[in-house]
Amino acid sequence: MERVGFVGLGTMGAAMAANLQRAGASLTVWNRTPGRAAALVGLGAREAASPSEAAARSDIIVICVSDTPDVEAVLFGPGGISDGAARGTLVIDCSTISPAATREFGRRLADKGVAMVDAPVSGGSEGARLGTLTIFAGGADADVHRARPVLEAMGKTITHLGELGSGQSAKAVNQVIISGAYLGVAEGLVLGMKAGLDPHRLVEALSGGAAQSWVLANRAGRMIDDVYPLGFKLSLHRKDLGIALELAMELDLSLPAAELTAAIEDGLLAEHGDEDMSVVAHAVRGQNPPTGAPTRKPGPV
Ligand code: NAP
Repeated sequence: MERVGFVGLGTMGAAMAANLQRAGASLTVWNRTPGRAAALVGLGAREAASPSEAAARSDIIVICVSDTPDVEAVLFGPGGISDGAARGTLVIDCSTISPAATREFGRRLADKGVAMVDAPVSGGSEGARLGTLTIFAGGADADVHRARPVLEAMGKTITHLGELGSGQSAKAVNQVIISGAYLGVAEGLVLGMKAGLDPHRLVEALSGGAAQSWVLANRAGRMIDDVYPLGFKLSLHRKDLGIALELAMELDLSLPAAELTAAIEDGLLAEHGDEDMSVVAHAVRGQNPPTGAPTRKPGPV
C-alpha cells in the first residue's frame, strides 16, 4: 500500500486509521486536539505536527473531520494539506460534507496537481471499528481505483457512484432514509410501550418481519432504556440533514419526513446534541411518557 496520512482522529477517524495501520499501511496521523494520536502511535503510526506535514509524508491522505468548513480548514488553512502535498498526491475525504463544496475543493486541489476522491461512510462507530463500513465514492475512475486498497482496509461495501461529489450526494440520500428509520422505530416503540407491550419481546417479534432494520437491531435498546451513548452524534445528523435539504432545494424538491426530523432534532440540539441520534426517541417519549415513571426529564419537541 502507498504511504497513507490520516487527518481527524475522532470517533470514526481513530477507528478507521487503526484498521489502516493493522492492514500494514505506513501511516502518519494528525489530530487538532493533542493526545488523540497516542493509541495509534502505540500501534506503530507516526504523529505529524500539522496536516501539511502529514501530507508531505504521504502519497494518499485521508480526511475524517466534522463539517464542510472543517474540511476546508485542514485542506487550505494555515498548515493545511495543500501546503505540504506534492503533485500527484491523492486526497480521500471520508467526512460527510456538501457535494457542491467538495467539487470546489477538488478544483482548487487540481490546480496544485493534487487529486481528490470523496468517500463518505455509513455504518456507525461499530462499522468503523470492525472495518465493515459502507463507502460511497465519487471521483475520476483512475483516482477511485487508486483509493480502493485504502478504502478496502476501512470498509466492506465500496461503491463508485460517479464524478467527484457523487459520494456526498449518495450519503445525503442515506441520511434522509435513516431519518425516517430512526423516527419510525422511536414512534413504534413508544406506541408499543404505551400499549403495555414488553418492549424487548416486541423488538424480537418485529425482527422477523417487514419492520426489521439496522436501527431496530442496533438502536432499539437505547430507545427502550432512554439512554443514548454514542454512536453517531445527533448534531452530526442534523448537519447531514442540512446538506440533504440544501441539495433538495437546489433540485426544487421538498422532503417532508426529513424536514420533520430536522425540526425535532433542532428541539433536541441544545441539551442532547452530543448524544446518539437515537435520542430522537427521547423527544417522542417526552410527548408520550410510557406507562411507569419516565427515566429522564422529557426532551423539548
Ligand atoms: P467526532 O468524533 O466529533 O470527531 C470529529 C473529528 O474532526 C475530530 O478529530 C476533530 O478534532 C476533527 N475536527 C473537527 N473540526 C476540525 C477543524 N476545524 N480542524 C481540524 N480538525 C477538526 O466525529 P465523528 O463521529 O468521527 O465524525 C467524523 C465525520 O464522519 C463527520 O463528517 C460525520 O458526519 C461522519 N460520520 C460519522 C459517523 C458516526 O457514526 N460517528 C458515521 C458516518 C459518518 P478534535 O479532536 O480536535 O475535536
